[in-house]
Amino acid sequence: DAALDLRGISKSYNNGLPNAVHVLREVDLQVAPGEAVALVAPSGAGKSTLLHIAGLLDTPDAGRVAIGGQDMTGQSDRRRTAMRREAVGFVYQFHHLLPEFSAEENVVLPQLANGASRKEADARAAALLASVGLTSRADHRPAALSGGEQQRVAFCRAMANAPKLLLADEPTGNLDPETSERVFDTLMRLVHETGLAAVIATHNLELAARMDRQVRLDQGRLCAV
Ligand code: ADP
Ligand code: ADP
Repeated sequence: DAALDLRGISKSYNNGLPNAVHVLREVDLQVAPGEAVALVAPSGAGKSTLLHIAGLLDTPDAGRVAIGGQDMTGQSDRRRTAMRREAVGFVYQFHHLLPEFSAEENVVLPQLANGASRKEADARAAALLASVGLTSRADHRPAALSGGEQQRVAFCRAMANAPKLLLADEPTGNLDPETSERVFDTLMRLVHETGLAAVIATHNLELAARMDRQVRLDQGRLCAV
């Protein structure tokens, strides 16, 4: 089964204007486990809308969304939220870590919310932070970490519940080129080592070219690059 299967997704915003904005037009996208797909498009082209629909934060006007072979179209909010918590990880341009908690606690908390025991959650957080070279930073609060370190913690948090699908919206967008490079390498390693499927929206064409596949949004249509 595809980790993510989008079929015929359309979405418009009316905005109270006479002409609706067709942000997505019959978008099809299948992402296999262990595959990283770059989503390339200028700002305003609908990348966030597509990621929010794929991650069950928003619903399309038409089309079907399946995650790990389970069709989520028309499911209750409760089932969609449960699927999102269990199977989807999000990473944003700005990390949105909880400032009053340590790096490790930021990775522990989503696991507790998903029903893990404290012991399991601690062990998994330590292992995730070690995998991105942050063991010595585990007890630091986000403000005490560099931008690249914060973003690596954000990846660990996104991976906390072992999602099938990682959705990233400009994850290296606010980092300098060298840090961006290191964070990107970490991300690709997570994808290829854990069989995770990832859709990564980016403006960085050089990074996009290093992913397994690139797609682009053009006037609401998704095209292969
Ligand atoms: P991107 O992430 O590529 O910058 P978005 O998906 O955020 O693009 O937005 C695509 C288009 O949809 C933009 O024209 C934006 O103004 C519009 N849009 C996004 N969200 C909403 C919303 N909640 N209500 C109305 N228009 C929206
Ligand atoms: P919580 O248990 O914190 O209420 P949710 O089940 O609402 O979490 O959300 C699950 C995942 O979706 C989390 O990774 C959260 O960061 C993300 N999320 C929830 N709402 C939004 C939103 N409006 N925009 C972006 N991400 C969101």
